[in-house]
Amino acid sequence: MSELSTDRSPANTILRLVAEGKVTSRAQAARVTGMARSTIGLHVDQMLRDEVLAELEESQGARGRPARELTVGRGAGYVVDVIFDRTNTCVAISDASAAVVDSRTIDILLNPDPKAVIGKVLDAAADLLSGHGLVLSDVRQVIASVPAPVDFHEGVTAHRSIMAGWEGIQIAKILSEHFGAPALMDNDANLMALGAATTVHRDELPLLHLQLSTGIGAGLITADAKIHRGADGSAGDIGHLRIDSRAQARCQCGKVGCIGAYASLHAVMSQLGIETDSVTDPRAGREALTQLVRKADPAALAALRDAAGHLGQLTAILVDMFNPRTIVLGGGMIELSDDVLSTIRGVVYQEALSIATRRLVISPSRLGNKAALVGAARLGADELLDMSPQVGQARYLAE
Ligand SMILES: [Zn+2]
Repeated sequence: MSELSTDRSPANTILRLVAEGKVTSRAQAARVTGMARSTIGLHVDQMLRDEVLAELEESQGARGRPARELTVGRGAGYVVDVIFDRTNTCVAISDASAAVVDSRTIDILLNPDPKAVIGKVLDAAADLLSGHGLVLSDVRQVIASVPAPVDFHEGVTAHRSIMAGWEGIQIAKILSEHFGAPALMDNDANLMALGAATTVHRDELPLLHLQLSTGIGAGLITADAKIHRGADGSAGDIGHLRIDSRAQARCQCGKVGCIGAYASLHAVMSQLGIETDSVTDPRAGREALTQLVRKADPAALAALRDAAGHLGQLTAILVDMFNPRTIVLGGGMIELSDDVLSTIRGVVYQEALSIATRRLVISPSRLGNKAALVGAARLGADELLDMSPQVGQARYLAE
């Protein structure tokens, strides 16, 4: 996202600045890039002819002249975003400025029938595209978000995740072949973190996003606004850390004492005797817990506060490890009760190094369940802008 990188063509530099909303006119482009106005004019005119850029007429400009605003055009291509979720999978189209053009939620459980889910995803995408007069060749990138660790070398979800039955299904490959465009699959915690990073200023990075829900996951956005995936893509997979040495709960991974086994929403529900069958409807258990919290049921509040205390310890360790400027907390656990947020905050400020907490801001997610979609659209736009010199517009983007 650096604006004036020298290894980009002038046209790509202008396109990026427009896509990021930093430039809306030729004059502004000249000021920001330092290029001559005549050079800017040539590139902008060519991009307007190719519809890579578009010009919005604003009726009321200065001195009665119609002001025209540069924006990305249809020729810059579109991204199909697929946010796989246990209960509601979302399909969306976004553009080169990372704006979500349209989206649709599919009411289908991830388990037990992956084929049916993928079929509905492709149907929804076809509907969305035709609804906006778009065809398959307008899709230049696909981003898939999954609620499971991702094996980046194989493009599949890792074994023993909550996506039981999806092991070995090459989701990215299926989507890439269908749309005839590159497809990237990422863990939802990473994309939620990228989404959260779009809501803060650049100097509020690095950002750590914790998703405290049925499972526990983290995503880290570095100071230069990139996802930290680690060597194999498993960075942030923190649900199996052992925080409390006395914990004896058995985790779905087979080990004993993983924090996800005693401090996740799922764990809190089983401690309270709420049915947590993930194969049948997982929403029913969530609703039962919400009712208990609303009634201020003492056992429910105690179980939540206990879990929040452990999550605070986990967060304090991560703060010492990564020294983020911002922590964003999302997921059902945070939405259930304000106590969870304040308990986590309290433990972090008490236990983490004071140098790391002096300017640290811990806040609840502002994007709610849209975080992964916002992140996917952001990642998709970055990919789109990176590849645009090779796709279609080689004529003017090449030097
Ligand atoms: Zn585990």
